[in-house]
Amino acid sequence: MSPLTPRYRSALTCGHCSRHIGHVEWTGERPAARMLLHPIVGNPSAVLVGQRICCPHCGGPSFAELPERVRENALTAYRGAAVGRNPLPRAS
Ligand SMILES: [Zn+2]
Repeated sequence: MSPLTPRYRSALTCGHCSRHIGHVEWTGERPAARMLLHPIVGNPSAVLVGQRICCPHCGGPSFAELPERVRENALTAYRGAAVGRNPLPRAS
């Protein structure tokens, strides 16, 4: 099992067409001032406080699903080890 990070992620779904829009990520227990939107298409961008994220297909409002804790994958865990964090136990 990969170690947990202080980051959280919440999937975004359109309230009109139910399409998956992407997800937002932030650091800390609660959605913070600095969130990053990871759309399905395109590059991640910062989300401003109070900014509405609209569906790129129909312009409908997006709804964030229950946040989940982001786990490090093997690659970021390896990078983290280089800056003084514990490396992952070797996967068997
Ligand atoms: Zn939509």
